[in-house]
Amino acid sequence: MNETDAAISYPRFTRLPSETEEIRLLHPLREEAGRRVEDLLSILPEEEVQGDVEMAKTEEVINALFPMVRVSGGQAIADRWAAHVEEWLPCARCPLNATAGSHVLAKGDIPCDVLYLGEAPGSSEDSLSEPFIGPAGKLMDRLLSESKPRYGETSLKQHYKYLLSNILACAPWLDLQARTVREPSKEEAQACSPRIIELIELAKPKGIVYVGRVAERFGPDTNLPTIEITHPAYFLHETSPRKDLVLDWKRNVLKLRGFLERIL
Ligand code: SF4
Repeated sequence: MNETDAAISYPRFTRLPSETEEIRLLHPLREEAGRRVEDLLSILPEEEVQGDVEMAKTEEVINALFPMVRVSGGQAIADRWAAHVEEWLPCARCPLNATAGSHVLAKGDIPCDVLYLGEAPGSSEDSLSEPFIGPAGKLMDRLLSESKPRYGETSLKQHYKYLLSNILACAPWLDLQARTVREPSKEEAQACSPRIIELIELAKPKGIVYVGRVAERFGPDTNLPTIEITHPAYFLHETSPRKDLVLDWKRNVLKLRGFLERIL
C-alpha cells in the first residue's frame, strides 16, 4: 500500500454518532459532506448499498471533514487516526462539548517531525473544524514558512512534517453570542490531555512547539524537547510601535528556527 492509499483508507466504524451528536456537530462543511453522500447514495441501487449505507456515510463524512490531515506510513497508522477521530469527535468529557460547534482535532502530517500546540479553537476554527485558521492562522503560516531550518551556506530548506493542534479541541467561549474565547481552565485542559497524549503517540514528533504561554502551561509531561513561541495573535492585538513588532516577529522566527535546527 502506498502513502496515498493509507491517507484515504479507513476501517469500518463500530459506533456512529447518535442523532443528537450528529445534529450538534453539524456545520456548513459537514452539511456539504452529508449532501454529497446523500446524492451519491441516491443514485446507487438500494439492494447493493443496503447494510453498508451507514458505514459509507461515516467514512465519507470523516474523509471530507479531515482533508487537512495527511496520514502516511501504512494502514495501521491510518486505522489509529480513524480510531482517534471516532473517539474524540463526539467527546463529552468536559462541559465545553455542549457549546462547541465542532471538535477541532488536528491539521498537518501524521506521523510528523514537530507538533505545534496552541491554546484552543477560536471562532473561525470552531466554524470550520480546523486549527490555526483565520487571521492568526495566516500569521502562523507565515511564521512556519519563514522559520524553516537552514543548513549550510546554501540555505537549503529542509522539508519537515508538522502537525497542528490545540490543548483543547473545543472552544472555551467567554461569550457565545459574540464568539469570543477565554483561557482554558485547568480542569478542561486535564480532560482533554489524553487526546494530546494519544496524538503524540500516534504522530511521534521529535519535539513540541507550544504556541503561546498558556499552551505551554497546560502541555502534557513528556520527555520530548519543547519550546514556547509567541502566539501569532499577539502581533494582531499588540499596539506597540511597528518597529518593535517587527523585532519581536524576527526574534520569534529565529527562536523557532534555532529549535527546529536542533531537533531535526
Ligand atoms: S475540550 Fe476536549 S475533553 Fe472537552 S469535550 Fe472537547 S474534546 Fe472532550
